[in-house]
Amino acid sequence: MPLLKSLIQAQPLLISSLIQYAAQYHGEREIVTRTINRDIHRTTYAEVYKRTQQLANALEALGAEPGDRIGTIAWNSFRHLEVYYATSGVGCVCHTINPRLFVEQLIYIINHAEDKFLFVDSSFVELVEQLSISLEGVKGIIVMCDQEEMPETTLDNTYCYESLISGHEDRYSWPIFDENTASSLCYTSGTTGNPKGVLYSHRSTVLHSWCASSPDTLGICNNDSLLVIVPMFHANAWGTPYAAPMSGAKMVFPGPHLDGESLLELIEQEDITCSAAVPTVWLGILQYLKKTNKGLGILERVAIGGTAAPPIMIRTLQEEYGVRVCHAWGMTEMSPLGTTGTLKKDSLSLPKEEQYKLQEKQGRGIYGVEMKIVDDDGVELPRDGVAFGNLMVRGPWIASGYFKREGGEVLDSDGWFPTGDVATLDAEGYMQITDRAKDVIKSGGEWIGSIELENVAMEHVGVAECAVIGVSHPKWDERPLLVVVREAGSKVTQEELLKFFLGRTAKWWIPDDVVFVEELPHTPTGKVLKTKLRKDFAAYVLPSLS
Ligand code: AMP
Repeated sequence: MPLLKSLIQAQPLLISSLIQYAAQYHGEREIVTRTINRDIHRTTYAEVYKRTQQLANALEALGAEPGDRIGTIAWNSFRHLEVYYATSGVGCVCHTINPRLFVEQLIYIINHAEDKFLFVDSSFVELVEQLSISLEGVKGIIVMCDQEEMPETTLDNTYCYESLISGHEDRYSWPIFDENTASSLCYTSGTTGNPKGVLYSHRSTVLHSWCASSPDTLGICNNDSLLVIVPMFHANAWGTPYAAPMSGAKMVFPGPHLDGESLLELIEQEDITCSAAVPTVWLGILQYLKKTNKGLGILERVAIGGTAAPPIMIRTLQEEYGVRVCHAWGMTEMSPLGTTGTLKKDSLSLPKEEQYKLQEKQGRGIYGVEMKIVDDDGVELPRDGVAFGNLMVRGPWIASGYFKREGGEVLDSDGWFPTGDVATLDAEGYMQITDRAKDVIKSGGEWIGSIELENVAMEHVGVAECAVIGVSHPKWDERPLLVVVREAGSKVTQEELLKFFLGRTAKWWIPDDVVFVEELPHTPTGKVLKTKLRKDFAAYVLPSLS
């Protein structure tokens, strides 16, 4: 029997509709930016929309064609938002580039993406000068500033953003095309090998925005004043610049100023109600709060992800500052939302300690992301909160492969994407990451999850940051080593820390030793670079063996 076709309008889900909606229904809602020179710049959705249309006209005049990739090397700002919408809106692909990558990686990425134009903040002009000789297809560089702010540069074909758009009409008729058209491109930072490009579609972006707006996830809504801390060059700032216009939430961009003091100033002055960032940023804010005895204004809730949110951070934010924490997990390949840690109705009646145990997990399954865990042979493992295995995901905002098919076929025959994370799933749908598959410590044929050990160490007042890695052991193959950055002024010792683990984790999981370092190496997205740590400690001999 043939299926019966519906009689519902087949209107494609296009990114241009998000900003168009915000301008029409929430035109006066503010978009605030702390600029590179620290000034506060204020505009509105209506104004941003006009300028986005000017930019769309300017792009066409420059010769940008549908499908062209257009790079950005920029901090979070209203101009970056305009570039997001204008590029995708005209049918080009907005390629956000992480300026913290090494020069060789930047050159690789820009050439691999075949970026035709680059939009860069004035503070990155020098960086682009370093790259320019190796850039193959870039036809023009647009510096995102006023004419007076234009830096001197040796670059050819540079344009000033404001001069470029100023002569153009603030009306543009957005083309209607297939919602599966590519809209933006983001390269994974890749600790080994070349970065790989994740190519999002208009459809995946709009669906993901709806997801981020749901009260059970980030819950971005019209009453919110959202501080967009996650960089717009990291997984599209977790999709928030697309989700906020969907409800007309106020957006506040901190520019490059991500220190505790600068962020707190915005939280207080702009009546921020919600925000999202990696743990290191919250750590900076908490340290500043402790020093100054200040509070977090009317901030209601924050999402923490990117790496595991230390349990102590969740407690401190909730108990001392009255801010609800949503522990979230995801990946660039997942747009990035995968799970969010809002508690289910039944979980809310559990004793506080049990609720905290759930919040320490990376969140629970959300509509749109199917999850399962499998063993090394691909056999599904039970959802009992105990068994752990390779986490596989499937859904309409999850990558089906990498740009230009780098890395070959990534999905299995049933369409599941291997996340590279090792996790448990419980019957209620809560998911807990125990490790990245490549960071798992293999001891005596069993696995030790480094995240749990790091969480325990972070509870100690003397620990500012830490990482647990496996070091070689003749009998057990590998044993855990705890690498610690002490809290300023702390003199915590190895013995004290090892004792601290007693009763807090399985005895055989307790690290064999502790080393103190001044700082830990980080990836360009703020995760601890464990490959480097493992290399640094490759020849490390545990005290029990020396
Ligand atoms: P990225 O694509 O740079 O966002 O990195 C994605 C990876 O970050 C995931 O595969 C996880 O390994 C890690 N990650 C993200 N969120 C969390 C979290 N809440 N807890 C632990 N690891 C996380």
